[in-house]
Amino acid sequence: MSELRIGAHVDQTDPIAEASARTAPLVQFFLGNPQSYKGPVLAYEAGAEALRADAEAAGVDLYVHAPYLINVATTNNRQRIPSRKLLQQHMDAAAEIGAKGLIVHGGHVTDEDDPAKGFDNWRKAIEATDIKVPLLIENTAGGTNAMTRHLDRIARVWDAISAAEGFEMVGFCLDTCHAHAGGNALETVVEDVRAITGRIDLVHANDSRDDFDSGADRHANFGEGRIDPALLAQVITEADAPVILETPGGAAEHTADAAWLRERV
Ligand SMILES: [Zn+2]
Repeated sequence: MSELRIGAHVDQTDPIAEASARTAPLVQFFLGNPQSYKGPVLAYEAGAEALRADAEAAGVDLYVHAPYLINVATTNNRQRIPSRKLLQQHMDAAAEIGAKGLIVHGGHVTDEDDPAKGFDNWRKAIEATDIKVPLLIENTAGGTNAMTRHLDRIARVWDAISAAEGFEMVGFCLDTCHAHAGGNALETVVEDVRAITGRIDLVHANDSRDDFDSGADRHANFGEGRIDPALLAQVITEADAPVILETPGGAAEHTADAAWLRERV
């Protein structure tokens, strides 16, 4: 019997209620607007201490997804500097609520840039950040000069950050939609990532509305996208990490996706 722990990305107002609606032992949410440079905002009315205590009492692990526009790799100072600041602010806020991890996308440099600059910017970001809860770097689906779309780039990021102070608190979040749409063979992706990072801390389990290597980032409910169902289940099984559904819909759809998955793992 599989003891796969399945949760979902949920609305931030009351993550405990959202977990309960899905009988989920873990949930992920944003702290504020994911498209804004404004600092984190905790929507939970009773405050950070209460959220931490309530999550503990309910047996729910909390994960925070950092804003999408954080790009610590970029050579553009006007994005990189606020990105680092925002990352630290979210790190602090995630620690206050007792989060088990903070998920951040790998970011990118422009097509004209040498990707080596991006890898080194990642090293600097790790060194500059006071990492209080595990920082989970996520693979992304698109872009030509992305840091974590393709395995060879993920390897270069890991090479760059592995000597940085705080590296032991850095982990990996594998998104199945992004891996597929990014053009990585799902047959071997878990093994390939582990060979690079040594760890997979969290799975973002999503089907994809788009074809393999399309570069598009559009999540689908299980069985409704373009990923072979058996392969999707295989990746999630092999990753052997807590699962967050980032599939469309609310509690009903997530419950159906969790049931779909449980039948196949
Ligand atoms: Zn994701």
